Amino acid sequence: MKSVEIKKNLPREYFHKICVVGGGLTGAIMTLMLKKSNLFRSDEIGWIKPKIKDFNDIRTTFFNEKSLELLRGLNLLKNLESSDYTFINKIQVFGMNSFSPLEWDYSNPKLNFGAVIKNDIILKSVIEQLKDIKHYQSLVTNTQHDDFERTLYLKDKTIIKTYLVLAADGKNSYLRKLVSIKAFQKKVNHVALSGFLQQSKNHNNTAIQAFTDLGPIGLLPFENKNIINFVQSIEENKYKQILSKTKPEQYLSDNLNSFFSDVELKFKPLQKVNQFNNKLSSWKLDLNFIVNPTAYRTILIGDAAHSIHPLAGQGFNLSLRDCSSVIKSLRNNLKFGHDLGDNSILSSYKDDRLPKTVAMTAITDFLFYGFTSKSNKTQLFLTKGMETLNKTNLKNIFRDIASV
Ligand SMILES: Cc1cc2nc3c(=O)[nH]c(=O)nc-3n(C[C@H](O)[C@H](O)[C@H](O)COP(=O)(O)OP(=O)(O)OC[C@H]3O[C@@H](n4cnc5c(N)ncnc54)[C@H](O)[C@@H]3O)c2cc1C
Repeated sequence: MKSVEIKKNLPREYFHKICVVGGGLTGAIMTLMLKKSNLFRSDEIGWIKPKIKDFNDIRTTFFNEKSLELLRGLNLLKNLESSDYTFINKIQVFGMNSFSPLEWDYSNPKLNFGAVIKNDIILKSVIEQLKDIKHYQSLVTNTQHDDFERTLYLKDKTIIKTYLVLAADGKNSYLRKLVSIKAFQKKVNHVALSGFLQQSKNHNNTAIQAFTDLGPIGLLPFENKNIINFVQSIEENKYKQILSKTKPEQYLSDNLNSFFSDVELKFKPLQKVNQFNNKLSSWKLDLNFIVNPTAYRTILIGDAAHSIHPLAGQGFNLSLRDCSSVIKSLRNNLKFGHDLGDNSILSSYKDDRLPKTVAMTAITDFLFYGFTSKSNKTQLFLTKGMETLNKTNLKNIFRDIASV
């Protein structure tokens, strides 16, 4: 009896050549790409995907065309029903007022900027293909390394040894702290408030970004109806005030109604979205910038490597490129017989990702800090600048950066 108990309490030890940490969209897609890369057998890949308490992520994500191509290549769109995604063929960006938005219209010819897809649909579709990959359902609490491998210690006492860790453990990455990767934190004092509203007109597959008094708001078309999924960035103190109101959704709708009064676009709260109760969800915006997302036998990917403001809907699009870049670096270097922890793999990933992460961080910071500036002059300058930009091809710089 005693020996059974002792055995039960002994740490279980496993080895995988490569190990992904994080069960969010980035960790899931990274694991799938490794599996499909033909660089590893399924049992050589480990996936640490902590169990989460009943959490219903009814958020949607905007995937640009390049990202959609990538998802298609991974067979993730094959079984989607038409109600699972909404194509975008027009984007409008409004400055301080609802006159002269910056506009990109692809409705004629029939091209798309990308599509909005529900997060849980993508995640389920990935997990379906990863049944043969060993999952570990506990959090990483510590790590150590010697010259040959890195060891991950999990909360449930499991020990995993590996040659390379791909850490996708989110914007507050614990792995990042454990391996002493420096992150520059940006204090934004904003919260992202997300939910669904009903529009007075059909959305016509148009995504809208507006810089309202309350803060930047993104309106993503949802299904083929007049419903939008919004992400409102809002100062923390205003957020608390709004939540204390009996009808916060009505307050947000009123704010939008006054902003869009010139174009006669109206919004109202919605009780249910499909079969779900429409509840507001909030996300603290901890933005950070990381120059070198690598450390000994460790690579950061996804929000662990860069957390940018969601106003341009590009955070996860960047993460997908991280995953492709990891595969490219592995493929290019393993053919020379390099060890998985070799510096050449880490530096080719870092060199590939840095310029793109810098560009996206710079553009989202510029828009966020510019349009939330307390100075009317700055806001007016940006709005006028947008009107001028709209008349030139220069505006395509935004579209091109959004598709890196
Ligand atoms: C409101 C909102 C709207 C957005 N809209 C868009 C959009 O339209 N388009 C877009 O491209 N991006 C968008 N983004 C950004 C996008 O959601 C994120 O970039 C993306 O979800 C990041 O995924 P991730 O897997 O890297 O991190 P996360 O989703 O945070 O996952 C982290 C994972 O790590 C696990 N973990 C944490 N700690 C540990 C540990 N110690 N050990 C092991 N595992 C651990 C967690 O359990 C979790 O599974 C939006 C963000 C917000 C907040």
